[in-house]
Amino acid sequence: MKAIRRPMFWYGLAMWLVSIVIASLLIQLGGLIMSDVPTAGKLVTQEEFVDTERLNAVETEIDALEASLRANQNDLEDARFRLDSRTLDYQNQRANFENWIKTRSATRSDAQNPEVIERVQAIELLKLEERKAQRVIEELQQTRTEQTRALQDLRAQRQDIRADAIAPYEQARNLEVLKVFALRLALTLPLLLISAWLILKKRGSSYWPVYRSFIIFSLFAFFVELVPYLPSYGGYVRYGVGIALALLVAHFAIKGMTRYLQNKKTEEQRPENEKRQLIEYETAVKKISGGICPSCDRQFGPKQPRGRDSQPEAHQDYCVHCGFCLFSRCSSCGTRENSFYKYCGACGVPSDNDALQATA
Ligand SMILES: [Zn+2]
Ligand SMILES: [Zn+2]
Repeated sequence: MKAIRRPMFWYGLAMWLVSIVIASLLIQLGGLIMSDVPTAGKLVTQEEFVDTERLNAVETEIDALEASLRANQNDLEDARFRLDSRTLDYQNQRANFENWIKTRSATRSDAQNPEVIERVQAIELLKLEERKAQRVIEELQQTRTEQTRALQDLRAQRQDIRADAIAPYEQARNLEVLKVFALRLALTLPLLLISAWLILKKRGSSYWPVYRSFIIFSLFAFFVELVPYLPSYGGYVRYGVGIALALLVAHFAIKGMTRYLQNKKTEEQRPENEKRQLIEYETAVKKISGGICPSCDRQFGPKQPRGRDSQPEAHQDYCVHCGFCLFSRCSSCGTRENSFYKYCGACGVPSDNDALQATA
């Protein structure tokens, strides 16, 4: 059973819609403002802090060395071909000579023969050529080793130059992040303060749906436009702020609950007719229908399935926890009714609820 007027229900729903529409428009407007004000900040890059002059010098040297190493590689391949060909020449000549000397020694043996000497000299010449070709390769390989080492040194230098940029870059980035955050905070903090003020002072106002949309907007601004831009410092700040916020929420929840319990306790001390005047008509009708005492907020009857009105036992007219009168009898026809009903549902006579203090 609900005592709320039908239009009020739809009004409440429509006002939520209005709140959300206004909030989303405010959010979009806020986003535009945030993108126009340079709050995003052009974050610095590490490249900006590299000593480009030194880096370029090293890069040029590296390029030159790499080119020379490639040339060396080609030279080495050529030299290897030449060596192979020289080796082949020498081996052929030697084989020829050995055959020749075998066939020759079968007929006559004269080691000092000028023809033999000439042939041996030719072979030695070829051997010399082979050796020369080998030396070229050795020299090329030597150069290659030296150049490779130099290249490694240069690459290490390049790494160092880049590493030197890290510290100043991080410093500049931290400063940038802080600046961006400060700007965003300057824009968001007033919204949050206004929202806090609205929550504290304007809860009951009939313009609450409008204020509510502003509060939604400021919460969105806080979580989307501010929190992601919190400087991290390795997570310290984020966790710190998170803990502080959680503690704040806990503090207000505990304070609110304590105040509520205190209010209830002082309320329970008051005379019944005073209590009745403090309780809102719509709330009271709804609560009693739901099996909840409107005075002490405790359940007085057995729990009912959702959507069905509570049907307390016929004799239960008072709250078992606080003695509050829940059901009363019509002064005219004696029908048992919700004690907040303004008229008897059976005979239509106005209920005399003020008389309840006498019965309570
Ligand atoms: Zn009660
Ligand atoms: Zn009646």
